[in-house]
Amino acid sequence: MKRELSPLKDYLVDARERKYALGGFCIWTYAYGRAIAQVAQKLGLPMLYIIGDAEVKFFGGLDNAVAAAKTIAGEVDVPVILHADHFRDYDKICQAIDAGFKSVMIDASAYDLEENIERTARVVEYAHRYGVTVEGELGKIAGCEQKLSLSQEEALQTDPEEAAVFVEKTGIDLLAVSIGTVHGEYHFPPHINIPRLQKIHSRVSIPLVMHGGSGTPEDKVQEAVNYGITKVNLATDLVRVVGESTAHVQSGDGFGYSVANMYAPAYERLADFAEHKMRLLAKNILPDKV
Ligand SMILES: [Zn+2]
Repeated sequence: MKRELSPLKDYLVDARERKYALGGFCIWTYAYGRAIAQVAQKLGLPMLYIIGDAEVKFFGGLDNAVAAAKTIAGEVDVPVILHADHFRDYDKICQAIDAGFKSVMIDASAYDLEENIERTARVVEYAHRYGVTVEGELGKIAGCEQKLSLSQEEALQTDPEEAAVFVEKTGIDLLAVSIGTVHGEYHFPPHINIPRLQKIHSRVSIPLVMHGGSGTPEDKVQEAVNYGITKVNLATDLVRVVGESTAHVQSGDGFGYSVANMYAPAYERLADFAEHKMRLLAKNILPDKV
């Protein structure tokens, strides 16, 4: 039984060539991870988990998160990838790599270009020694709580020329871009800047990442996949599905002191949601009748 985690890079290089994307699914327990992995297995797609600081805490630390992902890797035939999402601290990223993460994000996008390059390149230097994939971020992805005008929003978006410099100087494997998506829930109609994405895609030869996939119109996401987006992060949507499911149980017959009554519907809904997203993102490569 294999219990190995995989680096992300090669799968996304393939995705870029063949114009499809993987969902980056945010999980915070083994059980939710397992529910989604069954779907990846069914569709024959790599299983990509993304977890940030908050989720690492729910797992009870980096080692536990790795152990959970490796257990799942032993249960399915498809590759399993555990990706550290929005890690900002160099030491923490090294700890994640030492714990067994094969894919990490260094988010130094709050700094100016020069410092972003410096901080990101330092992570690349460490990670590549161990064959670990690195995602960097350039441009600022707004949070749902921020109310910005369109021109303010555009000013924060990834600059295509800077992107080319950033990729070359850091040696990153994947680039997270800001093209109008937001983290969290949208409180206004999303404006996804496809022309800007096209420009970035033409300047940069590595796979691109869309953050804030939750709530982004699906036709826009699909269009973005045609211009180099190979990973679409999904976090808010998963919390919503699980939260709504447990609330639904409570407002109906109640959970009746049964763990299965309380959580089984959430696993099922999560799997359905994941299947919908995986099919959408990999539409270009999945045969109709998988
Ligand atoms: Zn993000």
